[in-house]
Amino acid sequence: MDEFELIRRYFACLPTAPDVRVGIGDDGAVLRPTPGRDLVTVVDTLVQGVHFTPDIDAADLGFRAVAVNLSDIAAMGARPRWMLLALTLPAAEATWLERFAAGLQAAASAHDVVLVGGDTTRGDIVVISVQIVGDVAPDAVMMRSGARPGDRIFVTGTVGDAAAGLTLLAGGQTDNILVRRFLRPAARVAYGRALAGQASAAIDISDGLVTDLDKLLAASGVGGEIECDRLPISAALRSRFDADTCLDFALAGGDDYELCFTFGDGEVPQADDLAVTEIGVVRGTPGLDCRRNGKPYAHADSGYRHFR
Ligand code: ADP
Ligand code: MG
Repeated sequence: MDEFELIRRYFACLPTAPDVRVGIGDDGAVLRPTPGRDLVTVVDTLVQGVHFTPDIDAADLGFRAVAVNLSDIAAMGARPRWMLLALTLPAAEATWLERFAAGLQAAASAHDVVLVGGDTTRGDIVVISVQIVGDVAPDAVMMRSGARPGDRIFVTGTVGDAAAGLTLLAGGQTDNILVRRFLRPAARVAYGRALAGQASAAIDISDGLVTDLDKLLAASGVGGEIECDRLPISAALRSRFDADTCLDFALAGGDDYELCFTFGDGEVPQADDLAVTEIGVVRGTPGLDCRRNGKPYAHADSGYRHFR
């Protein structure tokens, strides 16, 4: 199977949409934006050996490659619409490609995102780059830079699960709710859109709560304080690890893809199936402090950084 056969068999056959004037098959995709809305574009790359091991299920990998991008779109308060896939593979294996395309499509179709193009190359290791284009009402976009002293800090869902899941996965466990949270992150797209125009600032948690909240606060030129005892830690996490380890996962563990946001006066939007927890407050002075049982808590700052 050559490159063109591969594209035809696994990717060109995926669903398209009326706003895609030219999709897979030409030199470029031609897309019809909705008048009056701004475009938001994100891209994220998964590299074998850095983000995943070769034994990962290709369906999980395809799902994850899309989900991490959806999460960035969610953090901007945007609606995801179109995606491009740049795929580097050592070999074209039919079963692997079938599973990969199925996982990719499962994550995309859940949010009506369509594949409009990409690039396929041979290389020594698997590298997957997905780009998503979304749109947003110009006055509703959420950025990292809008937090103001006195705003409250919130987080969606639960934190620490994915990092714990990665630990379990490394130990050979696969059938576990925490492992699933790592492999199949649920991007908070609907809640991000509900927050758009309301939250003062937002970021998605990919590197760890402390690391990512720090970025938001720094971008806003403010600081903050979070209360460790308030952090939403899942029953699944609590049942597997002691309280200190849970807290380390919650503060420093990455890959949760929850939203962390700041909010001024008024009530945060409610969601039926998603917990939203107030965890702290924004201050005028720079830096992020964690408190536990009323005392300062020195957390391990171990958010992932490339080239560190
Ligand atoms: P070009 O050489 O002009 O860049 P290609 O031959 O690489 O075009 O690709 C042919 C078409 O297939 C293009 O429309 C491209 O966007 C699409 N494409 C290539 N690889 C993928 C992929 N992995 N997934 C989806 N579309 C792809
Ligand atoms: Mg061309």
